[in-house]
Amino acid sequence: MNWSVSVLSTATSDTEPTIVVNFESGKYVFNTGEGTGRSWLQSRRHWRKARGVFLTSVGTQRCSGLAGVLMFCADASIQAVKVMGPPGITHYLASMRSYCKRLTMSVKVMEVPSAPPVYAAGNLDEPQPAYTDENIRLYAIPLHAVPASPAEGENTAAVHGKRKRSPSPDSSFKRPAPSDPAAPTTSDEDLEHVPRPLLERIAESGFSPLELSGEDAEEWRRMVVANMFPCSPPAEEPIKKRKQKQKDVTPPVVAEAEPQPVQPQVDPIMYNAAYAHRSRRLPPFAHPDSGPATLCYIVVGPRVRGKFDAARANALGVQGKLRALLTQGQSVSFMVDDGTGNMVERTVMPEEVVGPSEQPHVTMILDVPTPEHIPELVASFTENPFYARFRSKAEEDAKEYHVHAVFHLCGPGVLEDERYKAFMRGFADGVHHLISSREHGADNATFTTAAYSQLRLNQLDPDMFPPHHYSVLPRRDLSLVPGLPPLVELLQHNRLVDVRPPRKPCLDVLAQQYDHFHPAITGSQGVLLPPAVADVFRKSRAKVKQLAAARDTSKKPGDDVEIIPLGTSSTVPSKYRNVSSTLVRIPGWGSLLLDVGEGSWGQLARMYGDDIDSWTSGVWELLRDLKCIFISHMHADHHIGLAKILAMRKLMNPPPSQPLYVVGPRHTLVYLREQSEVEDLGVDQADGNGIITILSDMLNWKPVRPFWKMHKNSEPYVDEERSQQAAKNMCRALGLESFTTVDVSHGTRCYGVVVKHSDGWSIVFSADTSPSDNLVIAGEGATLLIHEASFADDQEEMAEQKAHSTCGQAIDIGQRMDAQNILLTHFSARFPKMLPVKTGPPSGRGRTLALALDHTRVKIGDLWKLDAYLPAIECNFADTVAEEGDGEQEAATVSW
Ligand SMILES: [Zn+2]
Ligand SMILES: [Zn+2]
Repeated sequence: MNWSVSVLSTATSDTEPTIVVNFESGKYVFNTGEGTGRSWLQSRRHWRKARGVFLTSVGTQRCSGLAGVLMFCADASIQAVKVMGPPGITHYLASMRSYCKRLTMSVKVMEVPSAPPVYAAGNLDEPQPAYTDENIRLYAIPLHAVPASPAEGENTAAVHGKRKRSPSPDSSFKRPAPSDPAAPTTSDEDLEHVPRPLLERIAESGFSPLELSGEDAEEWRRMVVANMFPCSPPAEEPIKKRKQKQKDVTPPVVAEAEPQPVQPQVDPIMYNAAYAHRSRRLPPFAHPDSGPATLCYIVVGPRVRGKFDAARANALGVQGKLRALLTQGQSVSFMVDDGTGNMVERTVMPEEVVGPSEQPHVTMILDVPTPEHIPELVASFTENPFYARFRSKAEEDAKEYHVHAVFHLCGPGVLEDERYKAFMRGFADGVHHLISSREHGADNATFTTAAYSQLRLNQLDPDMFPPHHYSVLPRRDLSLVPGLPPLVELLQHNRLVDVRPPRKPCLDVLAQQYDHFHPAITGSQGVLLPPAVADVFRKSRAKVKQLAAARDTSKKPGDDVEIIPLGTSSTVPSKYRNVSSTLVRIPGWGSLLLDVGEGSWGQLARMYGDDIDSWTSGVWELLRDLKCIFISHMHADHHIGLAKILAMRKLMNPPPSQPLYVVGPRHTLVYLREQSEVEDLGVDQADGNGIITILSDMLNWKPVRPFWKMHKNSEPYVDEERSQQAAKNMCRALGLESFTTVDVSHGTRCYGVVVKHSDGWSIVFSADTSPSDNLVIAGEGATLLIHEASFADDQEEMAEQKAHSTCGQAIDIGQRMDAQNILLTHFSARFPKMLPVKTGPPSGRGRTLALALDHTRVKIGDLWKLDAYLPAIECNFADTVAEEGDGEQEAATVSW
């Protein structure tokens, strides 16, 4: 049984390491940082066999691509996925309930206990694997940060021992999800464990999940996840909402017409209650006293049986079914002629006809975020005799297990820590070490298709299409680091490591074939445009020059405001376009982000450069200047990138001097707080430069029904006055006259926004919507309308069904609004490259229409140029697509 490991992405400015273990019958994904789905798309590998996602820690760094990956899996018809991680992973997943759900797939969450297993000296028994199937046994070792002891010289074992005893109320063993086949079967007794008082509390009208703690809270979170991913697709909603009277204490009931039991082994009352209360906040989560755990994984492949020696079996007279028994390791006895006509019994042992079996092959993924995690890592591989066999130079250990490759995810200061180098040297010399470290690695482009396309457009207009920031040189060459083991290399995306049969790491040929970006930037010739493309570029530039000469050069309000589309694809990313986000930069005032789909941080980092030695330049400077993030609605392509941006902002040292306002629907405000319990995102911090949230309902252009009043007591952030006061402060910080949300038509609560500046210009952003009269009225006379155009003109019916707009409808809205400029964006993934525009130019004197493209940097006053470049951009796409050998991408068929 052959198997391999592929590296989907590594630590760069826009990706985190994602490693995939590949077997014929299944794939196992280790970590899903932001952009994992898009990396997968770029790698051209399919994910239909994905069985599980194994996370080394909880939080944005390792998990912010999880929602996208799960939805990609569901859309690829995968029916069941396991998600494993340290304590907090169920809470994290449950916090996504308002935007990540799929009725056709089940997700089983398995939390690995936080406390390291207790090791008994001399006990060679294998620890219990965290996960097993026919391909792998997976061991998970939790690590914690152990602050340097004031008493220098305290040995690691002592530190480790102390850790083991640390109390951890929330870290007690988490019962795996009930229908996990690897878990002990759930008995009726288990189902009855919910104490009666809890069931009674759930039935009370004033019940809130916030009251729950301990095992009740864990059970609640598991039920929330079970609701997000029920086992089988019910024909209708599993539970009918029944309006409860104030004094009705009956718990919510299962609909009579429920097609079949969903999650048959879960407690139905808890399951239904979690559904009924899904819009309420989750029970509070806190890490154990020992701090958040990071997991290291050991992946052990199957033990392959030796070859059956048929000739020897014939000679011994072994026939038929007896051969099968021997291959299964059993001895067999049968009657044979002894050569003299007498029948005698003969016993054959397996080793007489079956060659020696081959030891399992092994790989490891070690996540060591800080030097403070090293003591527990070292202790685990020395104190536990079973784990110690994987890190050993002894021949007898090598005969038992063949450790082929170790993946080290090293945080700052880890790799060059003497203790870590000594740890690495403890492995056998033939082990390959692959290092992911921002301090050492290059900053290669992962999304090479988009990077290459941008490189070509840069020749059309270097200001409007700046090349992505990247670096192909390692920041610090590993050959300069003394004391590392012999076979060490930097982890690069698209590496392939065959584990059985073992081969040295090599480049994935498929990825190499389609990477035009790196050969272009490292070759001597640079980017060579085919003559026909160069010709169209030349003509476009000439046209722009000609138009510029004829234009009125007087400055109008808003001309200098910069618009930078960061993501222009609808629902899913493509190799060419990321999901929704638009940056608006107001000179002298600051910046706003209109929606932030997954990967928006990475898009910013590639645009402005992520110099990890400086907290004041490039993307960090932009982040300091960012004063508002507007979230239009809860569809995944519009807001999943929010937490990553906040987490990166929280890292800045010194911190920003001003607050960042996040305007969004209540669900965003809730999940931000729930995720903040796992990882500090700076929400509600007291020192005045953190995240201040504003409920978008409260800024609507005309009064709306007072949503969320019922949560007012437990959620102060839904208070109307509080939101309006914060909005005033935000307007003051950005020089705005007003910031008004507009309810648009999208089948779910969705707001567009009208931003009016005191300098006399305004921007209207439609968000996702069918043609909306509200927007026309509220946005009248806009300087710029940024409108979605998901579909082409001949797709009106589909646009209506999906509550989106066609290109022509968007232009019509702009005309009726009398917008001076119209920028179309949010193109369906059916058009990963360019939306076919058949509509003629918008009527109206001087009105400009342009199509957005990721990473275009254009001032409102220069939008006409982007329009003039359209033939060149289309020609570039057509040509790049031919080189990429692309058909319509797989993602064009999926729908989230
Ligand atoms: Zn959308
Ligand atoms: Zn939407």
